[in-house]
Amino acid sequence: MTTVKAVRGTRDLLPPETALWNRIEATARAVFARYNFGEIRTPVFEDTALFARGVGEETDIVSKEMYTWEDRARAQSEKTQSLTLRPENTAGVVRAYIEHKLGETGQLQKLFYIGPQFRRERPQKGRYRQFSQIGAEVIGPTSSGSESPLRDAEVLEMLATLLDELGITGWTLHINSVGSAADRARYNEVLREALVPVAPRMCVDCQRRAVTNPLRVLDCKVPEDQPIIEALPKIADSLDEDSKQHFAGVIAALDAAGVPYTRNHRLVRGLDYYTRTTFEFTHGGLGAQNALLGGGRYDGLSEAIGGPKAPGIGFAMGEDRLVLTLQAQEAARPEPRHAYIAPLGEALNPAALALARELRRGGLTVELGDGNFRLKKSFEAAEKTARRIVILGEDELASGILTVKEFATGIQTKVPRSDLPAVLAAPVSA
Ligand code: AMP
Repeated sequence: MTTVKAVRGTRDLLPPETALWNRIEATARAVFARYNFGEIRTPVFEDTALFARGVGEETDIVSKEMYTWEDRARAQSEKTQSLTLRPENTAGVVRAYIEHKLGETGQLQKLFYIGPQFRRERPQKGRYRQFSQIGAEVIGPTSSGSESPLRDAEVLEMLATLLDELGITGWTLHINSVGSAADRARYNEVLREALVPVAPRMCVDCQRRAVTNPLRVLDCKVPEDQPIIEALPKIADSLDEDSKQHFAGVIAALDAAGVPYTRNHRLVRGLDYYTRTTFEFTHGGLGAQNALLGGGRYDGLSEAIGGPKAPGIGFAMGEDRLVLTLQAQEAARPEPRHAYIAPLGEALNPAALALARELRRGGLTVELGDGNFRLKKSFEAAEKTARRIVILGEDELASGILTVKEFATGIQTKVPRSDLPAVLAAPVSA
């Protein structure tokens, strides 16, 4: 019989790697709490129309990558409905904001989420069909200050803090402004004209985009096209006064807070409800899929899915890529267990459990052996998982003096039971 395997593009996460996932999520939650964000959990599947409108029919995500099915009616009162596994979470959050009338509180809503997303992409390192995003949105009526450039800068400063606290070194923040929908329409025409003389020297995709969707030329990765693209007009020169001032406000706050960034004129999103600030954090260690996270302002999104005016800014970070980055940095080496307890003989198993309980309750990470193992086997198992082995035989139990061996140095000592927690918690002596 053929064996059943995990579906292409999906993965099992196993220990010890799951410990790293948990650490990342705990750090994110702690940072979000300090910035006064609250958690939102939206359903994993939604009405397909939400993503068609909220992500954009013409995007790759909606046109090729969604897991969509017709959900059959189970009763007369139900209709057959097209449903989709969420490919991202911003649309779901904004839907919930509208559905629960969060705007009517008049308060700025600061919401974060952590969860799986689904896209039928070509799997490769750092790109999966089920992946996890950690993201946040700051959204509210204009009167709540949701349009202020200070909110953009605060989100970026929070991200810099989060990456630093995760221990991710060497990230780069790329930032740009795409202005308003009108600015972008103007820029599109400027680009279209500028591309007429040079497009014939570019790749076939660019030749097509030059006519159909000039903005997409900026995404081209073909090396030969790069000097041509670098010489094209920049969107910064097509922004109106309001957009320019908003961006200047973001930059001034980032400078004051000391958050490093680079201007990237090619960071342009084509959809109408994306406005003003766009950004991406990249990491050199990730290879082709080098984006750790992306985000930006979406002042028109709520209206695009039938809600009230609710300017907002948000981001989504790829948790899988945070894990890859930390693993590559070797910062992720699992902490070895403090101790392995080896009972000498089956009769000592109950006493070993009692000792393990005492130490674990004191906060130590303890692996409990088994008195049915020969001592040699216990030593082999212990050396693989723990810094020290504690031997518990009849004599040790009676005297309360235990034998402890430290693997790194080979040193063996006798330790009174009451000193055991401190001895096991201490770093290895070598
Ligand atoms: P996006 O929602 O496309 O703006 O992506 C935001 C972030 O999610 C990216 O910067 C990646 O880190 C991550 N991401 C997007 N798609 C995938 C995927 N298929 N597999 C893993 N991570 C992804």
